[in-house]
Amino acid sequence: MTRPVPVPDAQSAAFWEAAARHVLCLARCGVCGAFSHPPDVVCDHCGSTSPGFTFTPVDGQGAVRSWTVMRQSFLPGFEDLIPFVLVDVELTEQPGVRLIGRLLDGQAPRLRLGAPVRTVFEHIRPETAVPAFTLLEEA
Ligand SMILES: [Zn+2]
Repeated sequence: MTRPVPVPDAQSAAFWEAAARHVLCLARCGVCGAFSHPPDVVCDHCGSTSPGFTFTPVDGQGAVRSWTVMRQSFLPGFEDLIPFVLVDVELTEQPGVRLIGRLLDGQAPRLRLGAPVRTVFEHIRPETAVPAFTLLEEA
């Protein structure tokens, strides 16, 4: 079984194109400069209804704010991966901007609330990659 693949739409196409090149790009509001993820028709930050979002590369570092261990596969294509850890990460780019993905370190003993991570990419097809995370060494 293969994993489900993202189906880009007009709002998300630039995000997925960048992800395929292993670049994390987030939508930045043309009015206030804040990031909105995922972008909606209205800016989360300033409320503009014409935010003119442009996708801007970010460094992809962040801190773990929550996680869960998946022990059962609810979707096809994940059977060989369980158990795996899904982390909810707040990106350093802007408070409140979050991304959820697999932690590729497994059930690492270093995993804790606030643990620093960086974004990496998992190729699920040759032309399709999804963001995931790996723990950073702590000083
Ligand atoms: Zn805005």
